[in-house]
Amino acid sequence: MNLVVASPTGLCFGVRRAIERLELALAEYGTVHSLGSPMHNPQEVARLDGLGLEVIERASDMPEGEVSFVRAHGIARSEYEELERRSRLVIDGTCPHVSVAQSRAESLSKEGYSVVIVGDSNHPEVRGILGYIDGQSRVIPSEAEIDGKIRYGRLGILSQTTQRESSFASVVSKLVLNAGEIKVYNTICGATIERQKSIRRLAEQVGGIIVIGGRNSANTRKLVEIAESLGVSTMWIEHSGELDRGWLEGKRSIGVAAGGSTPDWLIKDLKCKLQTL
Ligand code: SF4
Repeated sequence: MNLVVASPTGLCFGVRRAIERLELALAEYGTVHSLGSPMHNPQEVARLDGLGLEVIERASDMPEGEVSFVRAHGIARSEYEELERRSRLVIDGTCPHVSVAQSRAESLSKEGYSVVIVGDSNHPEVRGILGYIDGQSRVIPSEAEIDGKIRYGRLGILSQTTQRESSFASVVSKLVLNAGEIKVYNTICGATIERQKSIRRLAEQVGGIIVIGGRNSANTRKLVEIAESLGVSTMWIEHSGELDRGWLEGKRSIGVAAGGSTPDWLIKDLKCKLQTL
């Protein structure tokens, strides 16, 4: 069996940076409180739990005088301010690309634009970006969800950083017809685009693709969707223990791709297991 690993794949710059900051803080302070899960990978979160990570659900749950951590996906401005009030130190792991999306949203709102975020309204990153908007805002997941009856005077559009380019482009091109004035910021991050391109290249070379990453990871789900849309048999697993031997049978060439929040050790473990098979 030939094994081909997508390139680039796995941890993106923003999540790697956040993990490194969190590990340093855990080594120095012992216990660190993250507002929300620090990343969408249960196995990596469990590893960090073992080093002293505590996850809190609300900024108001932050114990006074302790060390807090802001995940790569970012949080709302009001939550950040609450953490600053309660913590002796805030370690900011917000990915710089997410910070750009937050400041774009804030400036559009201050300039009087209604703001549309193309993305998933339940995703923590999108909820965080919404927390930087004072005026009107909407989250639109796809072209199909656009209400053609709504007219906008001044419309500002940006994207969740992990959005598919084609989906963002189709929402923008449809909304153009509904607004008097439009300002668009493409805030899809390069890491996402590169990983989506790499799985397309991989799909041309192999008979099946294993995508490894958290089931709660939006960018991992998008990789799975892309592979499936290209007609390649695709298996989504969180760790090597979920490998289905039956699926592997008869495939002479297998591709491996990993979401942007999948740590190196999980990919290495999967490669070892596949090689032993
Ligand atoms: S996917 Fe992009 S925006 Fe999101 S954390 Fe990674 S590098 Fe940052």
